[in-house]
Amino acid sequence: MHKRVPDTHFKVVYDGKISELNAALGLHTFNSRVQGGKLKAKNEIRIASLFKTAPEEFLKMIVVHELSHLKEKEHNKAFYALCANIEPAYHQIEFDVRLYLTHLDLFGEIY
Ligand SMILES: [Zn+2]
Repeated sequence: MHKRVPDTHFKVVYDGKISELNAALGLHTFNSRVQGGKLKAKNEIRIASLFKTAPEEFLKMIVVHELSHLKEKEHNKAFYALCANIEPAYHQIEFDVRLYLTHLDLFGEIY
C-alpha cells in the first residue's frame, strides 16, 4: 500500500520577513499553527525575499534544502545526502549562500 502525503495542498512563497542568516537557512517545511481556533498543518516552503535578487543557483539551493526537509526534518547526515542527491554541488552552493548572506548582513546589497 502506498503511503499518502497527508496534505496535497502545497505551496511555495516568498517571505519578506525572513532576513536573518539562520532563519533563511534553518526554516522547516512542515509548519503547524493555530488558526481560527483549530490546528492547521500545512506543507509550505517559505523562501526569504532576498533570494529574488540573488543568483539563480542560490534560489535553487534553498529549494533543494526545503524539499529535502519534506523527508528529513533534521539537519543530519541523511538530510545532506538527500540534498546532494538532488544537487551534486549542494555543499559548495550552500557555502556560497552562507558567504553571500554574511556579506549582506555586514555590508549590504551587492545586486
Ligand atoms: Zn533546514
